[in-house]
Amino acid sequence: MTIATPIAAWAMLLGMALACAVSPGVRTVTPDWELERRRMVDEQLRRRDITSERVLEAMGRVPRHLFVPESHRADAYIDAPLPIGLAQTISQPYIVAVMTQAIDVRRSDRVLEIGTGSGYQAAILGQLARDVYSIEILPELAERARQTLSSLGYGNIHLRTGNGYLGWPDEAPFDRIIVTAAPDDVPDALVAQLKVGGLMAVPVGTMFQELRILRRTPAGFDLLQRMPVRFVPMVGKPR
Ligand code: SAH
Repeated sequence: MTIATPIAAWAMLLGMALACAVSPGVRTVTPDWELERRRMVDEQLRRRDITSERVLEAMGRVPRHLFVPESHRADAYIDAPLPIGLAQTISQPYIVAVMTQAIDVRRSDRVLEIGTGSGYQAAILGQLARDVYSIEILPELAERARQTLSSLGYGNIHLRTGNGYLGWPDEAPFDRIIVTAAPDDVPDALVAQLKVGGLMAVPVGTMFQELRILRRTPAGFDLLQRMPVRFVPMVGKPR
């Protein structure tokens, strides 16, 4: 912008001052989601130990606020998990980033997720992988996630309502598996559906939980990494 005369400059400053004076302290404008998202990436992820540019980019792109119920939308980018109904939660952004970074998703990968919830983690994986297969046990959440993901046009995410303990045998084996509800132990069926050399992130435990990062071996798996976490329980364990 060029300012032709000092008078025009004064008029502009006066206009700005008036514009600031009209809404004293009341937030009537739509939040700047993009700005909030950029801050989330810089302050909650980059400043901690999220170094994968691909993960940071994906989290900077996916509109997290659209995965959060309207009642909590204003808090969509805060450093915390949020309720999504039916006693379930969308994970804290940092935990989504930690799990995604830990399984090192490649463009050619087919990834299985257990616990679709809001669909946010699936959306992040969908930015990084070839295809994402996600299973949710609660039909109401599965339906809501389906609507959110299809309204965003994310075409490489496949959803199924069912029990994640069984995995998705028709589409197995997978390159990566991410479990976002906590079983009391690593489910055998999921290990069996992971390719040898493939990586899995799974929070394990009841009262106290730890996130385990595993690599599948021909005989079972190696434990690569563990960290304390808190997830909702994985329900419906077959007897
Ligand atoms: N990944 C989700 C958050 C997961 S919350 C997101 O990005 O929003 C955990 C989810 O796991 C809940 O929606 C819960 O209903 C689901 N869940 C619990 N047990 C399950 C099971 N056995 N199979 C599939 N989903 C399960």
